[in-house]
Amino acid sequence: MRVVLLGPPGAGKGTQAQVIAGRLAVPAISTGDIFRANVSGQTELGIQAKVYMDSGDLVPDEITVAMVIDRLAEPDAKAGFLLDGFPRTIAQAEQLRDSLDGLGHALDRCLELVVDEDELVRRLSGRRMLVDGAWVQRDDDKPETVRHRLEVYRKQTAPLSGFYAGAGLLVQIDAIGEIDEVTGRALGALGVDDRPAGDPAAN
Ligand code: ADP
Repeated sequence: MRVVLLGPPGAGKGTQAQVIAGRLAVPAISTGDIFRANVSGQTELGIQAKVYMDSGDLVPDEITVAMVIDRLAEPDAKAGFLLDGFPRTIAQAEQLRDSLDGLGHALDRCLELVVDEDELVRRLSGRRMLVDGAWVQRDDDKPETVRHRLEVYRKQTAPLSGFYAGAGLLVQIDAIGEIDEVTGRALGALGVDDRPAGDPAAN
């Protein structure tokens, strides 16, 4: 199955991507994670991406698209993938479609996580990640940058909802609630069997 996960910063895409991809037995590919790994590793790509990320802007399409197309060419993504954080612009979505088309493939679904903006601001300002044993705030989770990221989302990424609806691929779910509940809705929307909570095979 080839799935795009769409949703604003703070919607829980990363968390849900891991679980859903596990259930679909496909790799979860997060452009944010790939960029962050490159920033920590101080690669050329990381150095280029960092300025945009720190200010909450999108990394330019030409950098991002080439990186994703390379990643999708790896063997583990041949039979399917779950994309988290890509595409984020209409141009990225068109290039993804054309590139898959060239391989004789197509997306099966775009799953949109819907969360209202007040909840997003609350979640992002309280979010911490574990780095080398310590809980730290991501540079781009600072309040001013969060507001800017949400604005970038509204302007550049939210239109993808209409793009995928037009292609007949969009399914939307309410992403407010317990993580398991949201996962259940996501799997239901993707037509994947949901297993009872507590089933060790469910994670
Ligand atoms: P979030 O969903 O919480 O905003 P991500 O980890 O997905 O965070 O992305 C962090 C940053 O990485 C973005 O603000 C942006 O600068 C960059 N980025 C990630 N994916 C893309 C993309 N598809 N196109 C452009 N920039 C991206």
